Amino acid sequence: MRQAVKLSLGTLGGWIPQQLLIRISGQDLVFPFYHAVSDVPMPHVEKVYPVRSLKRFKGDLEFLLKHYEPVGLEALKSPETLGRRAKPAMFLSFDDGLSEIHELVAPVLDRKGVPAAFFVNTDFIDNRDMFYRYKSSLILERLEKINYSPAVTELFQSRYHLAGSGKKSVRDFVLEISYRNRKELDEIAKLVQLDFATFLKVRKPYMSLQQLKNLANKGFYIGAHSKDHPLFTHLTREDMFMQYRVSMEFVQKEFGTGYGIFSFPFSDDGVPARFFEEIKGEGMPPLDASFGTAGLKKDPVPFHHHRIPMEAGRAPARRLLRGEYLYYLAKGLVRKNKIVRV
Ligand SMILES: [Zn+2]
Repeated sequence: MRQAVKLSLGTLGGWIPQQLLIRISGQDLVFPFYHAVSDVPMPHVEKVYPVRSLKRFKGDLEFLLKHYEPVGLEALKSPETLGRRAKPAMFLSFDDGLSEIHELVAPVLDRKGVPAAFFVNTDFIDNRDMFYRYKSSLILERLEKINYSPAVTELFQSRYHLAGSGKKSVRDFVLEISYRNRKELDEIAKLVQLDFATFLKVRKPYMSLQQLKNLANKGFYIGAHSKDHPLFTHLTREDMFMQYRVSMEFVQKEFGTGYGIFSFPFSDDGVPARFFEEIKGEGMPPLDASFGTAGLKKDPVPFHHHRIPMEAGRAPARRLLRGEYLYYLAKGLVRKNKIVRV
């Protein structure tokens, strides 16, 4: 809903120059983020999330570099240096650690000298396992391939007591499977004769530890994105800490980063203020910055930054950014452009 409003605003405000929006909003540091960029089908992603083509990604980058100066972590740590720049700043990042980052994205960024952070789920490095939503995507793509064959969908209906065996019932059921019930996806895979282990071995959807080390050596930032991609607000306090600490420690040990960055999987919605205080506390892995996905928005936590999802509605960066600024300005009128944390 919120995303649809932003996209409409992006279209309506097509005549407003980007510089003007930046100036009147005062938002001169933005955090665009992506997941997947590919020119070949990504069956594990595209049924649940949009995939950016390389051409469109390059177009986005051209727009972003025209209006913003790409900055690294140093600029976030000393924001007073930002005002000295000729252009507003952007900090670019990519979530989920997909192999296309190493193949397509990093070479483009490297050629242009654009710094970026890549956030990884530590359980999936080296293709040891896969994000449960990507498993859902693979199941849906298999169901499409067999034209939602009644022989199979009737099995779904009887096993899971679905209201019907039609395409919609089965599809909705697969899409609604949550982190808590993710083991069920392995059972469903058997129903459609899908083998995730083979997919991981053959397709290698994720980067290897070595590939990530290569990127770290080139100067890209490697950050943690939890162990296996749960929605934090659904976790117990203990599990939130475990997901955070294990992934942060792994990344800092393996890549010898000397810095700490973390992006919340899905969203940080509902994560209490206390959690942010505690992860900065004694005995925790070093943390320089954490990242959410709420778009252009202020946060009361000084080291926590909200990023702009750049894949919504397959719209180009120009329209997405414009929508974000206009939404931000509209919310500002009713004083709602700042997150409230309890
Ligand atoms: Zn993610």
